[in-house]
Amino acid sequence: MVTSESEHRPLNVLISGAGIGGLAAAAALRQAGHLVQVFERSSFKNEYGAAVSISPNANGILRELGLALEDVGGVNAAKVNEYGADGALYRTIDTAGFAQRYKYPWQYIHRVDLHSGLKDIVTSPTGTGTPATIHLGHRVSSVDNDTATLTLENGERIHGDLVIAADGVNSVLRNNVDHSGIHPSPFGLSTYRFLIPADVLYADPQTRRFIETGEFELWSGGNNKLVLYPCRSGTVLNCAFLITDENPHENKKAAAFLYLDYNFAHDARAHAAGLLAANAGVQMQSVC
Ligand SMILES: Cc1cc2nc3c(=O)[nH]c(=O)nc-3n(C[C@H](O)[C@H](O)[C@H](O)COP(=O)(O)OP(=O)(O)OC[C@H]3O[C@@H](n4cnc5c(N)ncnc54)[C@H](O)[C@@H]3O)c2cc1C
Repeated sequence: MVTSESEHRPLNVLISGAGIGGLAAAAALRQAGHLVQVFERSSFKNEYGAAVSISPNANGILRELGLALEDVGGVNAAKVNEYGADGALYRTIDTAGFAQRYKYPWQYIHRVDLHSGLKDIVTSPTGTGTPATIHLGHRVSSVDNDTATLTLENGERIHGDLVIAADGVNSVLRNNVDHSGIHPSPFGLSTYRFLIPADVLYADPQTRRFIETGEFELWSGGNNKLVLYPCRSGTVLNCAFLITDENPHENKKAAAFLYLDYNFAHDARAHAAGLLAANAGVQMQSVC
């Protein structure tokens, strides 16, 4: 989808989707001197999400793009504690040392903060290259590979030199590149997330430790897992349940709480999990 003249002038790049992938591509292409337009179906009014774990390699790329995660609420990973189904500590990983070993740290960031940080470097009037334009409320319905032309849902056609499909797991453009008819399908595991404000956890001596250490906790209960780690400069604890779909309960939220009640054999952890769930009192969202 690149024209023959493209080596001699900045490319007009059209990106479908302003998620993490689309914005990261826009930031890199802007930095490389290209002219970028991003077409996003949503209005960004209801951006949601919980925390995302950013490994050292991804962290290095973000820094090269101009985004230091600690500037937008990123928390340095201190240690990973992994517990078995019997409640015993199975292993620990010293993630604080990753910055020395791998050059960049492992950090935790709220997805909305990562998304906003990327959006800022993509559109900022300062910085290298020409600010990209993000067209909100513009759903892409198809692409012509031969002419690098996007067709929007409203019928408008946009011509460019290069099209990047970054429209997520349910991409409508994927089939223009891959003709084998790949469709995402459930793989038997759902994730439910909720966030608990740190002050709620600090107020209860029994839950304080989950936020004050900055550590990542992974609790296994058979095939189900509970993951805890801080984000937003340590002001919020991210909690994620990974629940297998073989769970007999159609209501996954109810299943998650039953899991808390019954699947942790170790009394202290079951108690702690119950406290966390009670403190949360918030909606859980399935993200897969
Ligand atoms: C709202 C939201 C919340 C999430 N929360 C979390 C989280 O808390 N933790 C976590 O680990 N992961 C989360 N994810 C998933 C994670 O961000 C992505 O799986 C990962 O970053 C891959 O990024 P991506 O850019 O490929 O896709 P996505 O981040 O899914 O972005 C795709 C973008 O393309 C847009 N789009 C889709 N179709 C079209 C179209 N036809 N035309 C124009 N635009 C289109 C979507 O609106 C979206 O903005 C979330 C994703 C979303 C969209």
